[in-house]
Amino acid sequence: MKPKVCIIGTGNVGSTFAFALMVNGAAREIVLIDRNEKRAQGECMDLNHGLSFARPAKIYSSGYEGCKDADIVVITAGAKQKPGQTRVDLVQENAEIFKDIIPKITKYAQNSILLVVSNPVDILTYVTLKISGFPSNKVIGSGTVLDTSRFRFLISENCNIDPRNVHAYIIGEHGDTELPVWSHANIGGMVLAKYCPICNEKCNYKKELGKIFDEVKNAAYKIIEAKGATYYAIALALTKIVEAILRDENSILPISALINDYYGVNDVCLSIPSLINRNGVERILRLELSAEEQEQFKHSANTLKEIIKNIRL
Ligand code: NAD
Repeated sequence: MKPKVCIIGTGNVGSTFAFALMVNGAAREIVLIDRNEKRAQGECMDLNHGLSFARPAKIYSSGYEGCKDADIVVITAGAKQKPGQTRVDLVQENAEIFKDIIPKITKYAQNSILLVVSNPVDILTYVTLKISGFPSNKVIGSGTVLDTSRFRFLISENCNIDPRNVHAYIIGEHGDTELPVWSHANIGGMVLAKYCPICNEKCNYKKELGKIFDEVKNAAYKIIEAKGATYYAIALALTKIVEAILRDENSILPISALINDYYGVNDVCLSIPSLINRNGVERILRLELSAEEQEQFKHSANTLKEIIKNIRL
């Protein structure tokens, strides 16, 4: 049955994504895999009991053989941040988990697209690329799709505008060195530098915009402090990425992918707005960044490269 999506790791993120995907209806077959088999089975039962209110789908738990013929394998397995921990603090533990599970996935999913979600997502996307040996268009990290959604929401709230009419991206690492691309951020085609001075909301926009970015960067810390994990918005971000692939949408999304020859940055995975369709990453957009943005982008890339250097693959 097609389209088929496998979800590895059925904790907060994996199970919420399975629910969002079921409601969305884009997949005909959803397979849940977790080292905690009982948890995966329980999630399947709970989801299946809602199917009479959703579009038909086959939802079941399985071992890794369930990855066979999957269109997309979404990987959310591994440790999550505890309050106060950074994403990078998870690197060693989750890299070990990936060394174990990626060969198990690729044994059955030779032609699938791999979508990495576990943190630190950029590093683990790179690890997945190297271990799988898949072409780079088929290994994607969820990257700053979530951060960009947070950014658009907060700008929209501040400016009292529908978030769908706010076009602004967070790029670089999904984490502490990420950066906002203010030079291209626009509302209805007007860059903020021109829009803000004439907007009727009369805020101190230079100060407010700085605060908005800080809030984006620290959002996960705040949510984890408050409720232990983040899962609703990431589940919707994943649904958007999966839908863009399955429906061959040519959507522009700031996913994490292998970057080469980009402002002097090579051989690292991080986020840049990219064209996503049935082939996975069809194209990475060459953004014209300001001099300050270029410096911040290089800093983000170099930080990730330093961490990669210390991982034994
Ligand atoms: P969780 O602890 O609720 O779930 C993790 C699941 O992984 C558990 O069910 C566990 O049994 C399973 N697991 C662990 N090791 C495994 C293995 N070797 N094989 C199979 N399954 C295994 O955690 P969560 O809140 O769902 O978060 C999962 C990951 O997603 C974390 O790394 C978190 O930081 C990350 N995350 C990423 C984003 C993003 O934007 N990229 C957003 C939120 C969370």
